[in-house]
Amino acid sequence: MDKQYKIQVKDLHKSYGDNEVLKGINLNVKPNEVVCMIGPSGSGKSTFLRCLNRLEETNSGHVYIDGYDIADKKTNIDLVRQNIGMVFQHFNLFPNMSVAENIMLAPVQLKKMTKDEARKAALHYLDIVGLKEKADVNPTTLSGGQKQRVAIARALAMKPDVMLFDEPTSALDPEMVGDVLEVMQTLAKQGMTMVVVTHEMGFAKRVADRVVFFHDGVIREQGKPDEIFDHPQHEDTKSFLDKVL
Ligand code: ADP
Ligand code: MG
Repeated sequence: MDKQYKIQVKDLHKSYGDNEVLKGINLNVKPNEVVCMIGPSGSGKSTFLRCLNRLEETNSGHVYIDGYDIADKKTNIDLVRQNIGMVFQHFNLFPNMSVAENIMLAPVQLKKMTKDEARKAALHYLDIVGLKEKADVNPTTLSGGQKQRVAIARALAMKPDVMLFDEPTSALDPEMVGDVLEVMQTLAKQGMTMVVVTHEMGFAKRVADRVVFFHDGVIREQGKPDEIFDHPQHEDTKSFLDKVL
């Protein structure tokens, strides 16, 4: 375990029954680093992200967040989770409350913020994602891209110091993708530590400090964007990129 890393993963294994999905993953993420994970469908990217905040039990290996072993019974996993924002492909906003109320929910319940404070914070984060004027509408009236930006604001309202994104734009109509990526790029520029599973190779090229190529439950190759995209070393990386670029 090394305190200089925000996230440290050591020889992580995860199976579903007989299906070994993660076959020994090692990955270190430094503070302020943006890591984009690419790779074929079924290669284990989502499972890996879920292991980072213990939404999945692992079979062996270690995940350390800020130096805390998240599998250790002494670690307060709820606190660790509060510091890790997660944004999924599907936004899961509550349809029976307003946009602002969706964002206020966790800060009020988990951080014991007053409703006034939480509302102020919600408006602040809505402003950051460009949706301040939507605070009091019902989320069902929003477009997919707007919903996803609300989901990002909701995650940010917990003041996480790591953000995990699992294909946040792949359920969106193409014209909505840019706005969401722009919000993510702004977060990256502001120094948020981010792990992003994405099919948006342009985003990975522009924004990632490091690109990690997942294949069949292992990290086949990783490097700076230009190393991976312009000079891939492994045959699996080459054939994946041939298909998606
Ligand atoms: P990716 O995100 O790269 O597409 P996933 O992590 O979703 O890959 O899936 C990796 C493998 O794990 C797939 O073979 C998938 O079928 C399997 N898998 C994922 N989640 C579960 C689950 N909850 N139960 C059983 N198998 C699962
Ligand atoms: Mg996935």
